[in-house]
Amino acid sequence: MRIITHTCSACGTVIAANELEDNRVMKCPGLDCEEVLRFTDLPEDARNHFLEYKEQYQI
Ligand SMILES: [Zn+2]
Repeated sequence: MRIITHTCSACGTVIAANELEDNRVMKCPGLDCEEVLRFTDLPEDARNHFLEYKEQYQI
């Protein structure tokens, strides 16, 4: 299974795609980081892959 994650550009915290997909828009969980992360920040091919295999990511 392909691992899809997004790395916060401000602090480097790695967020799993399923967390982003659950929330769509979320504040970065990084300590003292105010960056807002969106599912749409993921590259389009990663989003498409995630949505296609979404069941496999529900762990
Ligand atoms: Zn951050």
